[in-house]
Amino acid sequence: MKRRKILKLSSGAIIALPACSAKKDQLTPSVANAIPASSNVAASTQPVKVGANTQYRPPAYVNQGLRNPNMNLPSQFSGKTVSHSRGLSTNPYVAMTFDDGPHPQNTPRLLDMLRARNIKATFYVIGGNVDRYPHIVRRIVAEGHEIGNHTYTHRKLTSLGDSEVSKEMRRTEDAIVRAAGVKPRTMRPPYGALLTRQRNNIFSNFNYPTILWSVDPNDWKRPGASVVTSRILKGAHNGAIILAHDLHAPTVDAMPKTFDGLLSRGFQFITVSQLLAQKGQA
Ligand SMILES: [Zn+2]
Repeated sequence: MKRRKILKLSSGAIIALPACSAKKDQLTPSVANAIPASSNVAASTQPVKVGANTQYRPPAYVNQGLRNPNMNLPSQFSGKTVSHSRGLSTNPYVAMTFDDGPHPQNTPRLLDMLRARNIKATFYVIGGNVDRYPHIVRRIVAEGHEIGNHTYTHRKLTSLGDSEVSKEMRRTEDAIVRAAGVKPRTMRPPYGALLTRQRNNIFSNFNYPTILWSVDPNDWKRPGASVVTSRILKGAHNGAIILAHDLHAPTVDAMPKTFDGLLSRGFQFITVSQLLAQKGQA
């Protein structure tokens, strides 16, 4: 990615705040507004027929096609596993993850796509971008998504000393707290590169498990939106952690068909913390 100048900031005090992913959905609860993800209902432009037996649906979602159900699953996890590349759930749950943002255009566009389908995702943000675009981080959190720590400068951590790694984590955590009032609960190393010793240190010092992935469409190589979609649909499995980058416009272009394709195959979207909190997860 294109590197930007890093802003110099005074480090703020750490504020003890609840974790970011108590995903109490603000939308009207109940199954009334949820089209079952396992159904084969195609995205429809037909007007909804209103009759005596028609259940209420919030207006914002009328004619939106497939939509993730409200997933008020627990997000508190307490396992001792330091690294995860997938969830152990046998339920058809997937966690979409988006790295390297927030980006001033692509991330809001992606948020619109997610909101239209009631999909909650996890954003591994770069601390420098958080300080540049704090309002977008606030929107991410306000719309029920989870924020993860993706370092401040996006350097390869394997070449850094322990104190530098800690500084990367701390500065990013501080930036996220300042921007949105929540603390990240997991981290993802740039390029997936992190030594075992470093993972253990980060786990003990910050309580962050290291989150890798089980599905990688290589979207950063910009293979084209349809290729990104087909790679994700082909690779998806129960408990998948899917890697993508909201930094890249073609990746965001691929998301409507990717989301709709996963929904039509019966997958449901949850956040990384919710995936880790699933029963059976170490
Ligand atoms: Zn990255």
